[in-house]
Parts: sequence; C-alpha cells; structure tokens
Amino acid sequence: MNREDLANLIFPNINRTIKDYEAMYPKRDLGENARVTRFAPSPTGFMHIGHFMPLLIDYVLARQSNGVFYLRNEDTDTSREVEGAIEYIRHVLEWYHLIPDEYEYKDNGETKGNYAPYIQSERKEIYQTFIKHLIIEGSAYPCFLTKEEMDVIREGQARDKRRIGIYGRYAKYRDLPVNEAMERIKNGEIFTIRLKSKGDFSRKFKFDDLANGEMEFPENDLDIPIMKAKDGLPTYHFAHLVDDYLMHTTHVVRGSEWVSSIPIHYELFKTFGYKMPKYIHIPLILKKDGDTIRKISKRLDPEARMTYYEEKGYPYLAVIEAIMTIANSNYESWREGHPDAHFTEFQFSPKKMSSSGALFDLDKLDNISKNFISRLTKEEVYSEVLSWSKIYDLEFADILEKYKDYSMAIYNIEREQKKPRKDYTYYSEIKNKTWYMYDEYFKDIECNFLEYNLVDVKVILSEYKEIYNDNDTNEEWFNKIKELCNKLNYATDMKAYKLDASGYKGSIVDVTNIIRIALTSLTISPDLYSIMKILGKERILKRLDKIIAK
Ligand code: GLU
Repeated sequence: MNREDLANLIFPNINRTIKDYEAMYPKRDLGENARVTRFAPSPTGFMHIGHFMPLLIDYVLARQSNGVFYLRNEDTDTSREVEGAIEYIRHVLEWYHLIPDEYEYKDNGETKGNYAPYIQSERKEIYQTFIKHLIIEGSAYPCFLTKEEMDVIREGQARDKRRIGIYGRYAKYRDLPVNEAMERIKNGEIFTIRLKSKGDFSRKFKFDDLANGEMEFPENDLDIPIMKAKDGLPTYHFAHLVDDYLMHTTHVVRGSEWVSSIPIHYELFKTFGYKMPKYIHIPLILKKDGDTIRKISKRLDPEARMTYYEEKGYPYLAVIEAIMTIANSNYESWREGHPDAHFTEFQFSPKKMSSSGALFDLDKLDNISKNFISRLTKEEVYSEVLSWSKIYDLEFADILEKYKDYSMAIYNIEREQKKPRKDYTYYSEIKNKTWYMYDEYFKDIECNFLEYNLVDVKVILSEYKEIYNDNDTNEEWFNKIKELCNKLNYATDMKAYKLDASGYKGSIVDVTNIIRIALTSLTISPDLYSIMKILGKERILKRLDKIIAK
C-alpha cells in the first residue's frame, strides 16, 4: 500500500489532475500590466465598510489597468452562511455600480466568465484534485484527532504558554503509516486532511506587502487543516491558494485581519511552486469617538454597515468619494485638480495607504455629499429623491409624482448657478426640508408666531394680501414690502433701527419673518421670494386667509 492507494481511498471519484484544470483555466489574455482582482466575500453576514474598502480598491485597480474584476462567493463555511447575504452583496455591487466582469449567482444561476464556477461550494472537485495531489506527494495527510483530543491539546498549550495549534509533537498523525491510515478510514473514522508542514518556526522569511512594505514573519510550521471532515470542503487558506492560482488573480486586496495568515499562504504557494499574487492588506478603518480614535465597530456604529448609506440616501458616488479619500492619501489633492474625472481614473497607489489606520469621518462624507448634490440638476435631484422615496417613504413618493414640475422647481431654488446652495446632505432629509411646500403636509399646521403680537400679525398679513401680486419681480415685491413697512411704522433702514428702535413697531425683518412664518410655518427658509414664486397665488392666498380669519 502506498500513498496513491491512500489518496484513491479518500478520493475515489477524483480522476482529473491539476494539469487538466490548468488547461481548462489558461492564463488570461490581458495586457502586461493588467490587474486581475477579486472581491471574495463570505456570505456570513451583512456587508460593512471593512469589506467595502477592499472591494472599491479591487474595482479601481482592475479598471485603471484594463484588467479584470471578478466576484467569488466564498461559501465554504456552510455553518455560518446567512440567508440573503449574497443577494445583498449583489445589491451593493449594483447600487454602487461596481459591476464585476465575472460572477456567478446561486439564486438564478446567472454566470459570466471563463473561470467558473465562482462559488466555492461548487468547486469541491477542483480543491480535492489539489489535495489528492498533495497526499500522493506526501505533503498532506489524514488526521484523526477528535475534537476532545484537540481541546486537551489546546488547553495544555495554553497552560504551558506554548503556541496553539497542531505542529511538532502535537501532530500525532503526520507520520502514521499508510496502511494504518487506510485501516482507520475503512473503519469509518472521521478525519480531516492536514498540510504536512515543512516550515521551521525559528526561520524567518521576508514578504513584500504592497501597502505595508517589506514584512518579516517566522515560517509556518502548523499542520493546518486544508479539508474539513464534515463536508469535504477546503478551508479558506486552501481555497485561496487554488482559486487565486487558477483564476490568475494578480492582486489580493483584503482586510488586515489576514496578515497573520501570510506564513500559511506563503507555505501553501511554495508547496505547489506557484508564484504568489501581490497582496494589499488594507488598514483598519477608524473613527473618532469623543477624544479617542478607535476601530469602527459593526456593533456600535451604524455607519459601519453599508445599509446605513442607502437608508439615509447618500448619493452612491459621495460614499465612494469619501472612502477613496481615506484609502489613498493623495486622492483629495488629485480630486481638486480633476473635479470632473471618474474615480477610476485616479492612479491608486497601495503605498499611499495609511498603515496606521484609515480615519473615516461622517462629517467629511456629509460635506462631500452636500457638494455632490449641489452640483446636480433639478431633474437629477428629483429623480434621486423619488427613487429613495419609493423604497423608504411611499407617501412622499406619491406626492412627488403628483407634483413633478412643482417639486423640481423647489429643488431648483438657488441651484444651477455658480455658487449653488448646499443644504441637502442626503435624500432622506429633503422631505424635512421641503414638506411645507405641499398642502398635503401643510394643511393641518398651526403657525407659531413666536413673540409677535397676533393683532399686528393679522394687520401685516391682511395688508400684505392686498398688495401681493404674483407677477411682481423680486425688486417690485421688495419695494412693496418697504412701502408696507413705512405705512405700518416698521423700520426699513436697519442701521438706523439698530441705533435707535424707539418710535418703531419693529423692522422690515419682522415683517418678512411674519410673512415667512405664515407661508411656511418656519423662521428659516430658502429665499422667500423664490418660495413664493413656486407656491403660487392660490396657495399663498389660502395660507394668508387661514391666519387672517382666525
Ligand atoms: N472570504 C474572505 C473574507 O470575507 C476573503 C478574504 C480575501 O479577500 O481573501 O474575509
């Protein structure tokens, strides 16, 4: 009995060879500097900003090099799979317009690309072919350690302050004679497949991370599991090796939590003699919390989840912009010089990532978003607010559809000019900033005239009603207000009024304030004349009458 017999016993149905797969998945026909990147989420939860940043970098690297960006569903940990997670990932890719060149979706089987399957659970045979090869070579072996035995080992290691894991004398089955191993398998014993590590923990190797520069690690000497007993699926480490090799990934962009796995990946690639892809381990995403700076937390910080931005109604490009800004230190200055360029035109440089962490700041995003929305046309704002409302506020969506031109006119106040208004931060707040323009929301509102004497209020509004003419130009309107002030003894010369207010009932500011409150119920609004032009005669008279009649 030799290792080949053992391998055939374990994998009786694996008849292909690694060469067969190499032939099926040939080198990609791309330019010399083209980058092949992948977004490789595990469908184990909802997407957070720590997933989004690598995704964005993957996308940019591929696009700016005429490369390929593909999606791979890393679903080998079946026990942790969350329903709907991959559908949500797809939604995020579509929402942010980061469409992969190659992908495969489980729900409808939709697939694109020559390196399929792109779902790891459908690649079992491929992984097993590579594992079979390792067993024949003597670089992997079945391990019969039970969970209880492993617990005892781990507890002992913790107690003796030794490194945790299966290595050296703890690797009880690494030299088990083939016959014995086969005997146990035939008897139905449960086993995992482990790598037979050739590493030496006391030896160091150098590793070049594109973001962090040269790093040094001790070699891996753990006999890590490469195939699980439960379902014959590989572990993350082994799937990473096989997939990124066969799919010809050139750049792996992933979270810094994977840095500690580099020695394992280094050994795996070395075992097969494959060239490693280049790695970019992204920094932690940090946030300011009072006086401290800490890691952004999925649990504590709503903005850590990607759902947050959609629910609030941030323009997707504003979110991308904010994340690009923290991903690369020179992005902001590039943007200043290229205000209209698409973000993929930026030459992303992994060296310009902060190794100490990327500070994400919601105020900054708000600013970017305000600027972004201020540059949209009224049609664009309308269509974005409508799309948002159709998901989150159906009642408002109905109103928007009913009053399309009217709503666009509202969004057009002080827009499409050199210095446009910047008061919309995200689409969810637009209703709160415009509701009073719609009778449906305004009709039951009691206007609060603050400290103003209600008799004076009525006098002002009745007089105003008489002089109001919806054809007046801004200047004509303002002159009429001034005349009204003179008539009712409100000062129009604010300088003089501030020096000596005696003898006046108030000033022109009070008069316009009262009109503003009557028409909007608010003390602060965008330009009153513009608002009146949009409200129109009928609404204005109705609103004035309601108060006068009281
Ligand atoms: N499935 C891994 C994760 O979600 C992917 C890491 C990688 O990109 O290699 O963390």
